[in-house]
Amino acid sequence: MKQTLVMKFGGTSVADIDRIRKAAEKIKQECGNSLNIAVVVSAMSGVTNQLVDYVDNANNMYDTAEYDAVVSTGEMVTAGLLTLCLHRLGCKARSLMGYDLPLKTTNAHANARITAVNTDMIQECFDNNKIVVIPGFQGTSDVDNRITTLGRGGSDTSAVAIAIALNAIRCDIYTDVNGVYTTDPRIVQKARKIPIIAYEEMLEYASLGAKVLQTRSVELAMAYQMPVQVLSSLDKFIGSQKPGTIVCNEDTNMEQQLVTGVAYSKDEAKISILNLDDTPGVSAKIFGPLADAGINVDMIVQNISSDGKTNLTFTTPKRDLDRAIHVLDKNKEIIQFAGIKTDSEVVKISIIGVGMRSHTGVAAKMFRILADKNINIQVITTSEIKVSVLIASDYTELAVRSLHTGFGLDDNNKIVL
Ligand code: ASP
Ligand code: MG
Repeated sequence: MKQTLVMKFGGTSVADIDRIRKAAEKIKQECGNSLNIAVVVSAMSGVTNQLVDYVDNANNMYDTAEYDAVVSTGEMVTAGLLTLCLHRLGCKARSLMGYDLPLKTTNAHANARITAVNTDMIQECFDNNKIVVIPGFQGTSDVDNRITTLGRGGSDTSAVAIAIALNAIRCDIYTDVNGVYTTDPRIVQKARKIPIIAYEEMLEYASLGAKVLQTRSVELAMAYQMPVQVLSSLDKFIGSQKPGTIVCNEDTNMEQQLVTGVAYSKDEAKISILNLDDTPGVSAKIFGPLADAGINVDMIVQNISSDGKTNLTFTTPKRDLDRAIHVLDKNKEIIQFAGIKTDSEVVKISIIGVGMRSHTGVAAKMFRILADKNINIQVITTSEIKVSVLIASDYTELAVRSLHTGFGLDDNNKIVL
């Protein structure tokens, strides 16, 4: 039986007809490897934003089902165009829309979740040696069959779901970066491409703002153990194709690095509540109303109390800062505090690695590296595979670079001019 490969092309990889032609060439080449190929495509770059703008302008109090009717079209255009380019190369191919399959989703328009993928039509195409080209990001509601979309960035999730349904050997995601890096190459020139990364690590990167894959697609791949490869479609393909980053299970994670990468997020703001009573229930009085207002709280520290009074510090995304203060002020009588101090000139720096689970001393080493650079740590949080610190944003580059070097992540073969 032939094996199946899913290839997904993101917006920049299908930005114009020239790029779409190049994608078709890559597909043709893989086909030559006697594989069944299902291709999943995004809208041409910028198109979804444009469609969303149209919707907003037409009626900013829009009905989400109609929003989906409009914004789902970008992917359909690409699917048709790519199929046409494949025909020109002499490949047998056809497009299959979400409603053709059908790919079923919940009824949550604009943010639907996939519930089932029917593969009968895809299989029929494979039996006839046809490549199938499927628009990502769309499905149909399992309530009323209307078109749904999966939330921005959702075509990654379409690709992974289709790979799982087809029992594919892998899901290759072609994007504008050639893999996942140990840190942001714009800050650390010696950043390395990570050849293999565990699903859990990838989830941490995604939640820290490294927007390579939609988080939900990684969760799905992890749940079904579907290997995902991140590649650049801009790299030359034939012969010189450099493999990207494989996202897979921890057991197959070759490199025994304690720390696989350093991530940072500038989207943090710090709030300190001063002179609180150190009595049972205080935290509930603070975080209850914040949660009710839909405000995300990330890092939290409470100081040791003196004279029954304490300070409590936490972080929220920058965009939630004003609302958080408003909520706290409104509840001042109930919470009882002397004042609030805020600081949005902060950055969260994290080191990530599944190796931390079984090793001690990683956090201590991180703190030592930062101390040696005289960088003050304001807040600390840890999970099993991550340590995060909040520091003044002026020190972002110094901290990221020092940690990258300190944990042995620098690519010393790279010549830095
Ligand atoms: N075109 C959609 C978006 O821009 C889906 C995707 O490309 O993943 O969000
Ligand atoms: Mg994307």
